[in-house]
Amino acid sequence: SGMIHPDDAIRQTDDDASSSRASAISLGYLNDPFSSLLYKPNLHSGNGSPSTRKPPLINIGTHHRTIGIDTLFDKHLKDDTETPKQVVSLGAGSDTRFWRLMSRENPPNISKYVEIDFPHITSVKAQRISRSKKLNSLFNKPSALNHKTTSGLPSSPPPYRVSQGGTRIDSDLYTLLPLDLRSANSTSSTSTTTSTTISEIFNQHLLPLLNPELPTLFLAECLFPYMLPEQSENIIQWFGENFSQCIGIVYEMSGLNDGFGKVMKRNLASRNLSIPGSEPFPTPESQAERFLNPNLGPKGIFDKSGVKTLWEIREQVIDINELQRISKLEILDEIEELKLVLEHYVIAWGVKGENMESLGL
Ligand code: SAM
Repeated sequence: SGMIHPDDAIRQTDDDASSSRASAISLGYLNDPFSSLLYKPNLHSGNGSPSTRKPPLINIGTHHRTIGIDTLFDKHLKDDTETPKQVVSLGAGSDTRFWRLMSRENPPNISKYVEIDFPHITSVKAQRISRSKKLNSLFNKPSALNHKTTSGLPSSPPPYRVSQGGTRIDSDLYTLLPLDLRSANSTSSTSTTTSTTISEIFNQHLLPLLNPELPTLFLAECLFPYMLPEQSENIIQWFGENFSQCIGIVYEMSGLNDGFGKVMKRNLASRNLSIPGSEPFPTPESQAERFLNPNLGPKGIFDKSGVKTLWEIREQVIDINELQRISKLEILDEIEELKLVLEHYVIAWGVKGENMESLGL
């Protein structure tokens, strides 16, 4: 028909994130045996090229972003207490982080890991998970794996349930939850006409999966630009209000209105990846302040927050040996351009709760 649903562009963004990851993996920047199981390059997406290779700047950015977020996860999940932790990944797309964490020799002490995305995206992910033993065998907590039947063979209770027309997966440890994360009171959304707030949606669908007493991390990696600022604010507020110990991590672009940012914005637009509206968080500091915004209310507000650009992650967080290793993978002659690009991507975090360590990078 030629009609393009306004949400299609948003849904396709996962393809961009995943194809960047696939490129970085195929060139040796990242090691991730799960990505190819969860993501098949979309060969019909228009450019006609079956190659997944992205330019060096993108590969390096993908590497730094992954290490930056992994480092924050590790700081929070490291096992210095017996208390298990919970993770909620918002707009998870084809993210592989759950499998990368749980396939480690010493997996972190996580009691629940929830991934949320549009049903359109979760149905594909659920199908791929169902088809892959390598993926769905990590759904049981390690202690539950040692059950033996009287015959001596391992009993195999179904490790997970698929429901809601194939768009949802539940296991003890992992849930894939189909939801539209925009509260529907939005004026910009042409597709949603109900008046349910995100807080009502989360209370009904997400809260029953989680224990409000446990330290809980939520991740919004390239998600919030696809919704209105007040909608993302409501999400941050809900986590603050419902979990006395909470960590939020936000990753997105920042500073698109400065000179080089405008170039980057045009570049995104030319790939149909323009982000809607004007830029509400134009500096790294303003990204960090999202967690300390008085609008979050006395219960929703976080105690501390911080931020680093990907350039700072490169300079201050990533091991020098790792930087040397990846410097041999591709030729990059313009370090100045790399700096300009990496300065426009930020990882911000907020921490609340008495027993929470500050999460500085
Ligand atoms: N977080 C993943 C990553 O970094 O690899 C995927 C990022 S992708 C750029 C954005 C994801 O957010 C997509 O999978 C998209 O479907 C999802 N998303 C955007 N708006 C959403 C909404 N209103 N409700 C649920 N998911 C949404």
